[in-house]
Amino acid sequence: MHKITNSGWVEVVTGCMFSGKTEELLRRLRRAEIAGQEVAVFKPALDDRYGDATVGSHNGRQWDATVVDAEAGVWEIAESLNGEQVVAIDEANFFSEELVEVCEALAADDRRVIVSGTDQTFRGEPFEPVPRLIALAEYVDKYQAICAVCGEPATRNQRLIDGEPAHVEDPTIMVGAEESYEARCRNCHTLRTE
Ligand SMILES: [Zn+2]
Repeated sequence: MHKITNSGWVEVVTGCMFSGKTEELLRRLRRAEIAGQEVAVFKPALDDRYGDATVGSHNGRQWDATVVDAEAGVWEIAESLNGEQVVAIDEANFFSEELVEVCEALAADDRRVIVSGTDQTFRGEPFEPVPRLIALAEYVDKYQAICAVCGEPATRNQRLIDGEPAHVEDPTIMVGAEESYEARCRNCHTLRTE
């Protein structure tokens, strides 16, 4: 919390996939831990890429996390706390929009809330609840990856199905689908329309 007012706040770490969001989240958590602050980390249940109960970046570093249901479990984040000053939420884009109210409540309760998640869908559209959290947050950092096609800074999530661009009408969240992703720039990002 801020030392003068003892108040909490929300900070958002965002950007496209492969932009280093989770790495940055873990860096902030390690700093808090070194300072002796209690930390609680949460992630949505539908993301099991790195095992059930850890937050991990693509470079292999991990942190123990509590897994909560992305729809029904958002308030469990607030209910399961035991005085932790720092609350981190990874893959925030997969949570229901109620996550915004949860983060606001945690900040009002004088906690530091660190939210990480991608701000755009595979279509390049706002991916709620992250854009709303960006609007309400005190601090926002948006990172770029490198475009897998041209090497320019990348801000978009290119979804590929069998190596081909995904269809514009595909669902925003595909769980267990045979899809892959690349980071791409605005010019190289494409969608299939027919
Ligand atoms: Zn490009």
